[in-house]
Amino acid sequence: TVRTRFAPSPTGFIHLGNIRSALYPWAFARANQGAFILRIEDTDVERSSQEAVDVIIEGMKWLGLDHDEGPFFQMQRMDRYKAVLQDLVAQGHVYPCYMSTQELDALRERQMANKEKPRYDGTWRPEAGKQLPPVPEGVKPVLRFKNPIGGSVVWEDKVKGRIEISNDELDDLVIARPDGTPTYNFCVVVDDLDMAITHVIRGDDHVNNTPRQINIFKALGKEPPVYAHLPTVLNEQGEKMSKRHGAKAVTQYRDEGYLADAIVNYLARLGWSHGDDEIFSRQQLVEWFNLDHLGKSAGQFDEAKLRWVAQQHMKTADDAVLASLVLQQWQSRGVAVPASLQQGDTLAAMCALFKDRCATTVELADWLSMYVGAVQPPADELAAQFTDAVKPAVAALAARLKALPTWDKAAVSAAFKETLTEAGLKMPQLAIPVRLLVCGRAQTPSVDAVLALFDREVVVQRLLET
Ligand code: GLU
Repeated sequence: TVRTRFAPSPTGFIHLGNIRSALYPWAFARANQGAFILRIEDTDVERSSQEAVDVIIEGMKWLGLDHDEGPFFQMQRMDRYKAVLQDLVAQGHVYPCYMSTQELDALRERQMANKEKPRYDGTWRPEAGKQLPPVPEGVKPVLRFKNPIGGSVVWEDKVKGRIEISNDELDDLVIARPDGTPTYNFCVVVDDLDMAITHVIRGDDHVNNTPRQINIFKALGKEPPVYAHLPTVLNEQGEKMSKRHGAKAVTQYRDEGYLADAIVNYLARLGWSHGDDEIFSRQQLVEWFNLDHLGKSAGQFDEAKLRWVAQQHMKTADDAVLASLVLQQWQSRGVAVPASLQQGDTLAAMCALFKDRCATTVELADWLSMYVGAVQPPADELAAQFTDAVKPAVAALAARLKALPTWDKAAVSAAFKETLTEAGLKMPQLAIPVRLLVCGRAQTPSVDAVLALFDREVVVQRLLET
C-alpha cells in the first residue's frame, strides 16, 4: 500500500508553497487508499517551536489534509536513531573522524584555491592496508558514513525523470556529531524506513540530499522509496515564495474568508494538472490525483487566478455552509444578528442570492450586512438618484409594499410594476434609488429578490425615512 508523509520543520511560518508539499502526498495517499503520515522535523531546536507546530496542524486541519498517523516528532525518536547508528557502526559503514574544524577549513581553502569542489578527503576513512593518523587526545570524533567509492546513484524521479549522481560527487557525510546526536539526512532515512514510506513527495530543495539518503538506505540493506521532487513555488514577482518576500500564512487565507476547497483546488493546479480541468472538488482531486501529471516547471502564484478559482467555488458552495461561515464572520465582528437569521433558511437564501458576486465569505458577509445593520448610501449618488421627481413614486411604492397581502419576490415585483405604470417611470429610475435607500448601494442582484429577503418593516422604514 501507498504510504506518504509531510515532514515540515516547525520554524514558524507556513505559506501556500509549503502546504502544497502536504497536499500532494495527502492526495496521493487518498487516491490510492494509502496512509498519510505527519512527521515534525524539529531537530533544529533553536528555531523550532510548539507554536509553529500548532500553526501547521491548524492549517492542515482547515484544508482537510487529515493524517492517519502522527504527528511524530524527531526529537522524540533520538534513541531510535542512535540504535540504528549502532547497527551501521557494527556493520562497518561508519567510521570516526577526528579532523578538527581548523583542519577542515584549511582543507576547504586549499581545494577552493585549486578550483576543486570542497569535499572531505577521506583522511580518517579506514581502508585495507591504510595507516590512519594517530588519534588526537581529548578530541571527540564525528561519525562519517562510508559513501561508496565509484559507481553512481540513480533514481527515477517522478517529476524530474532519471537522475544519476556519480559517487565521486558525494563525500563521506557526517551522520553523528561529536556528542553522538545524529544529523539530518540520517534521521530522515531512519524515519522513512520505520514509517514504511513508499513515496517521498517533497520540495526540490531536497534533491541534493536524495543520493546521500539512497546510499544510507542501501547500507542498511533496504530499498529506497520512490521520489518525486516538486519544483518550487514562485511569488507574483517570480521570486521563491517566502515570508520575507511577502507570502501570507496559510491561515490568513482562512481569515480572509477563502473556502478551504478553493485553496485546495488552486494549490493542486499549481504544479499538477488533469487535462484542461481548472475547477474541481476535493473528491475529484482524490479520484484523479497521480504523480504522472506533476509539472516540471516552477508554479507561479497568481492572486487573480486564486480569486477566480475562489469565485467558482463560492458559486457552487452549499448555501447552508456559507450561511454558517457568514454567521461566524458576523459574530467575530460583533454584529448583532437577529434570531430570524440564526436559524431557518433565510440566511442561506441570502447567500444563494449574493454568492455569485464574491470570492470569499468575508465579501459575502460584507454584502449581506445590509440585512443586519443600518446602511449608509453615498450622499452624492443618493442626491443624483433620489430626486424630487422620484420621491412620490418611492413613497407610493412604500405604501404598496406595506399593504401587500403576502411578502415575497412575486408580490414585491408586482408592487414595483404598478408603481412604475402609475408614475410613468422606467425600472432603473425607481429601482436605483430604492436600492440606495434600502441596500446602501446602487447595484445588487434583482431588486425584488433582494427586498423580499428583508423584514418588510425595515424596507418600508428605509424608503420613508429620508
Ligand atoms: N523538513 C524538510 C522541510 O521542511 C522536509 C524534508 C523531507 O520532506 O524529506 O523542508
